[in-house]
Amino acid sequence: MMKDRPEHKNANDSHMPASSLAAIALSASSTWVLKHVFRRPAANFPGKIGLYADPRLIAHLRNRIREGSIVVVGTNGKTTVTNLIADAIESSGKTVVCNRTGANLDSGIATALLHATTADWGVFESDELWLAKVVPDLQPDFVVLLNLFRDQLDRSGEIEHVQEAIVSALRASSRSKLVYNADDPFCQAVADRVLNPHITFGVAEDMRLPPNSVSDSGLCQHCSSMLEYEWRQYGQLGSYRCPHCSFCRTQPHYAAASVDLDPAGISFAMRFDGRDRRIMSHLAGAYSVYNLVAACAIADQCRIDFESVDAAIRGYVPENGRLQAYDIGSLRVILNLAKNPTGLNQNLRIVCAERKPTAVAFFINDKEADGHDVSWLWDADFQELAASENIRAYAGGIRRNDMQVRLKYAGVEAQLVDGALDFMAKAQSQGPVGRLYVIANYTALPHVKAELDEAARKKHVSTASTAGDRPIAVIRPHETEPSPHGNRSMTIMHVYPELLNLYGDGGNVAILAARARARGIAVTVDLVEHGEVPDFETADIVFLGGGPDREQQLASSSLLAQAASLRAYVEDDGVLLAICGGFQILGSEWLLGDEVVEGLGLVDFTTKRAEGGSHNRIVGNVALHSMLASMPVIGYENHAGRTHLGPECEPFGRVIGKHGTGNNDSDGVDGVIYRNVIGTYLHGPLLAKNPEIADWLIERSLERRARKEGRKHLPLVPLDDAEERTANGFMSRRLGVSEKVHDAHFRAWR
Ligand code: GLN
Repeated sequence: MMKDRPEHKNANDSHMPASSLAAIALSASSTWVLKHVFRRPAANFPGKIGLYADPRLIAHLRNRIREGSIVVVGTNGKTTVTNLIADAIESSGKTVVCNRTGANLDSGIATALLHATTADWGVFESDELWLAKVVPDLQPDFVVLLNLFRDQLDRSGEIEHVQEAIVSALRASSRSKLVYNADDPFCQAVADRVLNPHITFGVAEDMRLPPNSVSDSGLCQHCSSMLEYEWRQYGQLGSYRCPHCSFCRTQPHYAAASVDLDPAGISFAMRFDGRDRRIMSHLAGAYSVYNLVAACAIADQCRIDFESVDAAIRGYVPENGRLQAYDIGSLRVILNLAKNPTGLNQNLRIVCAERKPTAVAFFINDKEADGHDVSWLWDADFQELAASENIRAYAGGIRRNDMQVRLKYAGVEAQLVDGALDFMAKAQSQGPVGRLYVIANYTALPHVKAELDEAARKKHVSTASTAGDRPIAVIRPHETEPSPHGNRSMTIMHVYPELLNLYGDGGNVAILAARARARGIAVTVDLVEHGEVPDFETADIVFLGGGPDREQQLASSSLLAQAASLRAYVEDDGVLLAICGGFQILGSEWLLGDEVVEGLGLVDFTTKRAEGGSHNRIVGNVALHSMLASMPVIGYENHAGRTHLGPECEPFGRVIGKHGTGNNDSDGVDGVIYRNVIGTYLHGPLLAKNPEIADWLIERSLERRARKEGRKHLPLVPLDDAEERTANGFMSRRLGVSEKVHDAHFRAWR
């Protein structure tokens, strides 16, 4: 297969430049020090030092690989697919160099190469944004593109940015064969932009999974029309076509068929080496079908025999916290990574398929590698947990308070835990439990994994749990509580949820609905899909979420036809909450570079782009002082647009504390408030940690109804917001907003 690459046959380092030899020596000594002095695994550091001494180290070390190399990218499944491919090649009797633990920056790949003397194959996973640093130097034979989902939007930007990075990497290595997921329109769009030879994989049939509430995009990657789906598996994966242009799914070369999904394992049929084969695996979850078919496709391309692939799949023992199983005492604990909504939804499906009493803990951190924004938790369907009587939930990690609030609005009372051991102890002491699931995001995982590794070694777990848990306030998101507000009803209208719903913004609708229901108000949530005409007369609260530029443009041009009726609603004191992209649309115009897009003109402001266009974004946690709340208003902003308010306009809040920017780089304010309209850049979602703002919106809408119906308005009864306040307090302190700072603003503004 690699006959056209004579340089790979030479596995000798002697032709290397002096800088590479120095890099090798330096990193060898750093590996020794790390291992023997600090007793730490050396997965990154030697490569980092090596690349410092020789930035082209990967190019200079690639001769250590004799037959060929493979790089795996994609939002979800990289580590599993990389390990499966490496196992399959090894079981065929060949040697492999691989960054098995998931250290997937250039330093991790360089470290793996430094630690290998020679190998037949190189199999590496790479972070999407680092691909352009790795691929030009490695010149791999194959690049496997698994999928592209919303993931760490604050770090990677919107998906277009990730696609751009992959396209530029592939263009710098035109001989690399692209093996991509035909069911993913985002992957197809990457393939359409490069000239690399390619092969596709996918699933040949509808796996009939229940739909999730948020998927990444339904828009054509060429002409921005809404895609039509023959079937949709999860996220944006499925059999799609554009009704207006030629963009569509291609028939996959390697396709899984007759898929059997069982909690105990999965199996499916596919062609391998020109013959029909059945793949059997004890891995669970529909996403594992994609991972397995990808691994088999690449193994077939590398001419690995089926027996070796089959043996590798059957014998695959998940490690590194990817569906890793532990037996600790009488407990079976499953550890799994989940770091984005699609991955989390797949985890929830696995947990909900359990028939015995089950406990699940979610450990959520917000460090650099996780993304500092935890809004994405609101894009995952945690309400599925509430449907099962058998499941008890717990929240851990740095952002455990946010996690607890998220679960609260999903109808799940979750207790806080300090780590995996505390979780196991609490779960055991609070009732019978069959299986325990520990679900952790990127940087939360190593800590809980270390705890589980240690407990498994000792073969027992202490049942002493930390005392002092306070009772949790309950909110039943779908049930209307009996209350003094009588037989009230309310309609919350989410306009174009499939276009305007970024960074968990839809959570605002869930929060408003739950808080109104908790006051005995019967709530109807009206999802107005693109193509439908919203009847604002029927609405009590209208919601517009944020959106990527493409979706925002489509939503905005359709809404323009409704501008008069939305204006009438607003001028009649109709309540409107508009976030980020949805907020920008309300102004007179918004500029995408030189392109002027006409806004709805409801409020006097304009939005422009700064130098650098869409890449020059304002991203980060933000605290505001708003006239509408006694607590700081906490959220997360992520926008390229810079909004400038007209002279008569009042901002929603003033940016306080050490971080945060707001509308633009100079004014120090965020959003707008006009009549009963709040426009703001704050995701989070906005209402999660700011219950006073949620209640302000509900109260205004009830007042308006009472006025229209000639009734007296009764003020809202308060709710127990302990969890929300704790989550708010944690972030306020972190943003340097002490009560003193906030009070000073409060007094100054009144
Ligand atoms: N696309 C818009 C911008 O970047 C809005 C993004 C958003 O809603 N987060 O400014």
